Amino acid sequence: MTNKTLSMNDALYDYLQSVSLHEPGVLRRLRTETAADAMARMQSAPEQCQFMALLVQLLGARRCLEVGVYTGYSTLWVAQALPPEGRIIACDISEEWTSIARRYWAEAGVAERVDLRLAPALETLQGLIDTGQAGSFDFAFIDADKENYGNYYESVLQLLRPGGLMAIDNTLWSGDVADPDKQDADTRAIRALNRQVHADRRVTMSMLPVADGLTLVLNQP
Ligand code: SAM
Ligand code: CA
Repeated sequence: MTNKTLSMNDALYDYLQSVSLHEPGVLRRLRTETAADAMARMQSAPEQCQFMALLVQLLGARRCLEVGVYTGYSTLWVAQALPPEGRIIACDISEEWTSIARRYWAEAGVAERVDLRLAPALETLQGLIDTGQAGSFDFAFIDADKENYGNYYESVLQLLRPGGLMAIDNTLWSGDVADPDKQDADTRAIRALNRQVHADRRVTMSMLPVADGLTLVLNQP
């Protein structure tokens, strides 16, 4: 027994999945297809996405945001957790990767819940703010280019309703955030974001050592 987070070996990870994961077949097929892609490590872990889907249900979310879609795996978990009238605005810049995503959203029967915006996410978020949609989103997942994390954080916080929740991915960045020898732009951006969130008195936050680090940020009600 330990009061520290366990380090995860393969056997324990397999066990965790075997007693907790309920991954629908369509999501498993999307994960299998994506595994052949050179960038497959960008895809979020199934148990992390299942957890976010639970949060979406807990919030009774109807309006969601996603910054960073890739092949649509996390998008699809969230979309399936929404009620039929629920919507997720999904931001990405890649036509190629999101064409795979669209196929699976359609196969899962939730294509009408996903509003894909192919443009730099900061522009899409600013457009939502400019059209009076600040304070109207229940849940957001940030998982795109790390150098913009601080900017995504500020824009998304404006878009969340009071009591709305943001999940920020990769906040432990393979452990590099705690290694002073790692000074590349992505690592520095994530460190800066972590400090920014921790110091922000507008929110309640928690950093979870799930997958590559998942920070939850509640916009104070
Ligand atoms: N959430 C996805 C999942 O779990 O499967 C993974 C997203 S992947 C880590 C990051 C995505 O961000 C890529 O698909 C990339 O095209 C997108 N991206 C990179 N820069 C972007 C930008 N400026 N605006 C919008 N999307 C961007
Ligand atoms: Ca990620």
